[in-house]
Amino acid sequence: MSQAVFTHDTEVCLVAAAEILNAPAPERLEEIWDYMDRWDWSGERPSEIAELAQVHRVLTRLHAIWLAPLHEAVAKTNKLLRDAAALPQLVHHEPIGWHVHAAAEDSGFATRLAVDTAMAIVDAIRAGAFERLQVCAANDCDDVYVDLSKNRSRKYCDATCGAKAHTAAYRARKARPAN
Ligand SMILES: [Zn+2]
Ligand SMILES: [Zn+2]
Repeated sequence: MSQAVFTHDTEVCLVAAAEILNAPAPERLEEIWDYMDRWDWSGERPSEIAELAQVHRVLTRLHAIWLAPLHEAVAKTNKLLRDAAALPQLVHHEPIGWHVHAAAEDSGFATRLAVDTAMAIVDAIRAGAFERLQVCAANDCDDVYVDLSKNRSRKYCDATCGAKAHTAAYRARKARPAN
């Protein structure tokens, strides 16, 4: 049995946030709808252009937290929660069971995205696992990911970047003159 790194809802939220952050801006709305379907996200879907602009602002802030050193990430996460007037409440609904909603039920998607992801980051920091929020090590890729490997050994956003990096390293070794 492998030990889970995070509680399920935290893991789902962080992985989904990474997917949305990695989606090119024009495809983000589709990525978000897809995300809401996959995880049975309750509440209204973002569709208004005005709300999309808000979503982009939230994503910019989440991206900055992802890349920040721990103490800065803490300050930025707390600010995100304060700005959204987050109020944690235990709720029970499928498919997750008991978990926390910290944004008001009638708040818009951008606020819920900000608060849910901030709460998941709080969880990661409390678990001493903030460094599991990573950026791809490939030279030509800035995608973010969540390292869920047992020994924190993941270096690339996905198998494609991993394979490309391995091929590049192999070619570099072969190109080196033997001596
Ligand atoms: Zn929920
Ligand atoms: Zn990558």
